Amino acid sequence: MRIILLGPPGSGKGTQSQRLMQREHIPQISTGDLLRAAVASGSELGRKAKAAMEGGRLVEDALVLGMIRERLREDDARAGFILDGFPRNLTQAQALERLLKTLRQPLDAVVQLEVDNAELVRRISGRRTCADCGRVFNVSTSKAELSESEPCSTTGLPHRLIQRPDDNEATVAERLRVYEEKTRPLIEFYRERGLLQTIDAEGEVAEVTERLERALHALPRVAAPPRRAAKSRKPRRAAARRLPKRAPAAKRKRAARVVRATAATRVARAAAGRVRGGQRRTRRRGSARRGRR
Ligand SMILES: [Zn+2]
Repeated sequence: MRIILLGPPGSGKGTQSQRLMQREHIPQISTGDLLRAAVASGSELGRKAKAAMEGGRLVEDALVLGMIRERLREDDARAGFILDGFPRNLTQAQALERLLKTLRQPLDAVVQLEVDNAELVRRISGRRTCADCGRVFNVSTSKAELSESEPCSTTGLPHRLIQRPDDNEATVAERLRVYEEKTRPLIEFYRERGLLQTIDAEGEVAEVTERLERALHALPRVAAPPRRAAKSRKPRRAAARRLPKRAPAAKRKRAARVVRATAATRVARAAAGRVRGGQRRTRRRGSARRGRR
């Protein structure tokens, strides 16, 4: 399942991504994490990103897209992903659309988390971060008690809660304004593509997760099956042609599985841009494998 959570700061995107990641077993791909990891690894992309950040410049979209591209090629992203923190404006959304098209990993859904502005301000200004372990708590919810009952995983002492500079009420208003101006237009962009789902993101975290899951699981009936079927139908028919009709069902199934597996590899390789006309190569590899049995 390939999804984007869209919502203003304080709408709970981070929290819900974390919960979804565990429940759906798909990675959360955060552009912030990717940037930090790239800089730490010292890769070419990382060095460019580091130079931009040290120069006080915004990291260019092309760099971020390059990092997303590399990340999406990793094995765990085959089953899907939750994109977090990207895209933030129309230009990025269009670039992402082109990238996912070349990777043949189109989005399944974009879920908009709706929260009233007053509630957003309350949530963000109640946010506290532990200066030692980095965990985020909220003094406006029950998590404040948690911060006292559980020792810090880094120091073993009580968490040392601080308010991040951009979480105070004055900057919250500005962050919400930027969201309205730059990011809100994405809602229409994705609605036009039939990808948008909107959920009420107020209330208990667990309730919101339930709404999110319902919205996502209402989807596959409409969007996903045709795509999946289109991928697997052809190889399966090819397998049936090569095997005599009276071959035992188990054998037929096994052959179909092999073909499906190589087809998946072909799709992945083609996505990575390594194979042109991969169809023929796959077929040869498929028969070689059967010959060895
Ligand atoms: Zn802590």
